[in-house]
Amino acid sequence: MRQRTLNEYITQKYGKKLYKLALNAGFTCPNRDGTKGRRGCIFCLGSGEFAEDPGISITEQIELAKRRVADKLPQKGYGYIAYFQPFTNTYAPVDELRKIYMEAADHPDIDIISIATRCDCLPDDVLDLISQVNEIKPVWVELGLQTIHEKSSEYIRSGFSLADYDEAVKNLQERHIETIVHVILGLPGETAEDMTETVKYVGQSGVQGIKLQLLHVLRGTDLAEDYLAGRFSCLTLEEYTGILKRCLDVLPDDMVIHRLTGDGDKKLLIAPKWSADKKMVLNSLRRRLNIRN
Ligand code: SF4
Repeated sequence: MRQRTLNEYITQKYGKKLYKLALNAGFTCPNRDGTKGRRGCIFCLGSGEFAEDPGISITEQIELAKRRVADKLPQKGYGYIAYFQPFTNTYAPVDELRKIYMEAADHPDIDIISIATRCDCLPDDVLDLISQVNEIKPVWVELGLQTIHEKSSEYIRSGFSLADYDEAVKNLQERHIETIVHVILGLPGETAEDMTETVKYVGQSGVQGIKLQLLHVLRGTDLAEDYLAGRFSCLTLEEYTGILKRCLDVLPDDMVIHRLTGDGDKKLLIAPKWSADKKMVLNSLRRRLNIRN
């Protein structure tokens, strides 16, 4: 692989390892509160199964999350990323957002603030706020794009357009905000060519990082109903590796690869079953894709 993994990028840039603390600001999402829909994206359960309890303060969540990962960490020489993960973490009045972002930015152990959101939830006042926080600590904005193909976007009920993505990326880049884009590989009806086109588009759009995520079918989602009715099948590890290779080939050298598979909740995973063996999958991908770290 020509590009850097997230680990390589972080250790080169910050001189230490950084660990993610998944925080929960307690927000919802326009695809769930009725603004754009009520059923959410077809694959989504809220994407926050590892995040903390939204009923407690951000500082308390940081402390709890630190304790949760403590036994996996070395003695010293590391820091943390405050990762606002579930639902849409820019979907609230700007004063409310200021309070939670600043609380994370002011915490002495936090090195980076990472905000997961949608392309259509970045109005100017929120972008300006993110810019201000970025002056205090680096901010990453993670955009869930998933696909550039309209047919797939309609199927998954994303509720935003490619023009929304372009606009969000333009606004973030003008403000020098590091941007990471989520893409799902293996969406029903998409060919390897379709997926490579999406990844190529992301690579040319001027963002700094990409998360490549294998499509997981989770119990309780509408996607599971289609899968169980036999309307589509999931990728095999062999197919997924081949598609990843093609995707990495079309990405620029300086793109940071934040993720190559993704974590699904094992208890809810219906398919593909092979993805539950994370160690085996990562070892296989490392070997086949020549990944150093
Ligand atoms: S936008 Fe994100 S949180 Fe909202 S339904 Fe879709 S995947 Fe879930």
